[in-house]
Amino acid sequence: MKGLKGKNVLVTGASSGIGQAIAIRFAQEGANVAINYRSSPAEAEETEELAIKEACGNIENCGVKSLLVQADVSQEADVVRMVSEVIDQFGSLDILINNAGIQIAGAAHEIKIEDFDRVLAVNLRGAYICAREAIKSFISQGSGGIIINISSVHEIIPKPDYVGYSVSKGGMENLTRSLALEYARENIRVNAIGPGATITPINQTWIDEPEKKAQVESKIPLGRAGTSEEMAAAVAFLASDEAAYITGQTLFVDGGLTLYPAFRENWSS
Ligand code: NAD
Repeated sequence: MKGLKGKNVLVTGASSGIGQAIAIRFAQEGANVAINYRSSPAEAEETEELAIKEACGNIENCGVKSLLVQADVSQEADVVRMVSEVIDQFGSLDILINNAGIQIAGAAHEIKIEDFDRVLAVNLRGAYICAREAIKSFISQGSGGIIINISSVHEIIPKPDYVGYSVSKGGMENLTRSLALEYARENIRVNAIGPGATITPINQTWIDEPEKKAQVESKIPLGRAGTSEEMAAAVAFLASDEAAYITGQTLFVDGGLTLYPAFRENWSS
């Protein structure tokens, strides 16, 4: 895709699922990838191996660089260190992908406040801290920059029993739009994707259980869950020069889940 080759990209939470697929996709596009992980260097190493294999095949030193960077995105000091490590190693930062995210289940009237706070701290506050540090470097580099937030269909669809998650993704829409407007003059584009149900470890409760999986998929107009690679393709597009005139938007990549599927049948007239 146009404009990604040689770019320096930081992907948070890149040791699994959608983040891993994004890191691999950017490497395939010829970008240098910084792979953030919170606690498991082994999983992040797997992402790195796959990314370099996809980018280079058997060619040694094919030009795509990779870097593993530990940080808990909810910790300001970690994020400051992470961004400066990326700039030290790669020379600059061009693209930030705010992908790290968690969810904690519980009825809204029973959830522990620490659990609510933790989800917000990772999904929303963490994304903001990463964006803040990236924007500082974009401005000092003077070359613009790109941020893509990995939001969710729950940016607009309420998610009962996951109020923290829903609120965090609703906030992410505003974060995307506010930063897009504030920094458009600096040639910084800020967009999001809103994945629907996607086959990744966050959905372990249903992906290996055929009945539960069928139930989930029956609600999706295109009739199936999405793949991480399909999410990564949309992210690559939004980060590329093909999307040079797009900012402040969320692109839902959801098989039609945000189309009010229950209204498929005529119901009122
Ligand atoms: P996942 O659990 O595989 O990925 C989440 C990643 O975030 C993991 O690698 C995890 O280690 C990392 N992470 C968690 N807390 C962190 C922290 N404090 N600091 C740094 N990294 C941290 O699940 P996934 O489905 O790939 O989720 C990726 C993103 O996609 C999340 O933001 C999630 O909300 C979003 N999303 C997923 C789906 C889906 O159906 N899978 C749907 C909509 C949105």
